[in-house]
Amino acid sequence: MVKVVASCQCGQLKFEASSEPVLELICHCIDCQDALQADFANIAFFKMDETLVEGELAEKVYLAASDNETCRQYCDQCETVMFDRSEGFPNLIGVMVSQLQPPFESHPVCHVHVSDKKAEVKIPEGIKQYEAGIS
Ligand SMILES: [Zn+2]
Ligand SMILES: [Zn+2]
Repeated sequence: MVKVVASCQCGQLKFEASSEPVLELICHCIDCQDALQADFANIAFFKMDETLVEGELAEKVYLAASDNETCRQYCDQCETVMFDRSEGFPNLIGVMVSQLQPPFESHPVCHVHVSDKKAEVKIPEGIKQYEAGIS
């Protein structure tokens, strides 16, 4: 049964998950800032084997501080950034929450890579923060 659906701006690239995300977070790393041209990324991670991706992808590869390769995958037509994949987490796929469709509700549980955070971005009180990644 499909529970969560996402797609890019033009609709060519589609994502489906049969389960809720295992983790949702706000990532402040410079790679996310660069890929999204935004101050931070709101990402929900799903188990790879409970998801389906359809459509043509392009990707931009980064080298994470952990020395693992990490990439942001986007639609090769409209260039909407959709996914965050990392060698360090081969069984997980990160999906940009901005592309997830209702009834999905965003509930990030922590902020990561806070050491890269832009000074003007304020983190609400009472939410966990990690200087680097979680693992
Ligand atoms: Zn597209
Ligand atoms: Zn990031």
